[in-house]
Amino acid sequence: MKKVLVLEDESNIRSFIVINLKRNGYEPVEADTGEDALEKLRDNPDIGVALLDVMLPGIDGFEVCRRIRASGAKTGIIMLTAKSQEMDKVTGLMTGADDYVTKPFSPSELIARVDALYRRLGSSQDDVGGVMISGPFRLNPANRIFEKNGERIRLTQTEYALMNLFMSNPGKALSRAEILSAIWGEDYVGELKIVDVNIRRLRLKIEDDATNPAYITTIWGYGYKWGS
Ligand code: CA
Repeated sequence: MKKVLVLEDESNIRSFIVINLKRNGYEPVEADTGEDALEKLRDNPDIGVALLDVMLPGIDGFEVCRRIRASGAKTGIIMLTAKSQEMDKVTGLMTGADDYVTKPFSPSELIARVDALYRRLGSSQDDVGGVMISGPFRLNPANRIFEKNGERIRLTQTEYALMNLFMSNPGKALSRAEILSAIWGEDYVGELKIVDVNIRRLRLKIEDDATNPAYITTIWGYGYKWGS
């Protein structure tokens, strides 16, 4: 069974998430503090996706996210953010989360995101194509290593999927809806903004000057393109 870590200190919300994950064939692993979550992740290396609440006693969800990424684990991360904390989304994605869900969320919304992220994790092992080279960049699907001028750049699952999409479609104008559907899945019910936030983060990692991007270029009112 596919394991999902559920880090949430409010027990009623945690039970609500746990019930819905079970109903959809997932095996939830529960944690009520950040410290507890990190321990559970160490004990269960087969956890594919982690749901992290932001506001917690002790270390917060962002710190947990940072530590998971620092450990080099490929766990998919979805932040659970409150509606009043609009900035949380950006902060969460900047610390290395793959996605976020705003509270209150519906079960179908949450499961769609977990499904989409699990699909991305799975497909990474399946579709192993050849090495792609574009300008200073080199992407190797066999070991998922992405390099710029021979130096490795660490990418999240989402960023990797985006790079794969761009480098597979050089010079092609990709609409934001097209990108959303390719990376997050056809049935993803979310805002197009998540595409922009992820591209912004990716640019900080790969561009020479993120304020004047030369590789991932913007097509105003439409989407993005690999190359100018
Ligand atoms: Ca909380």
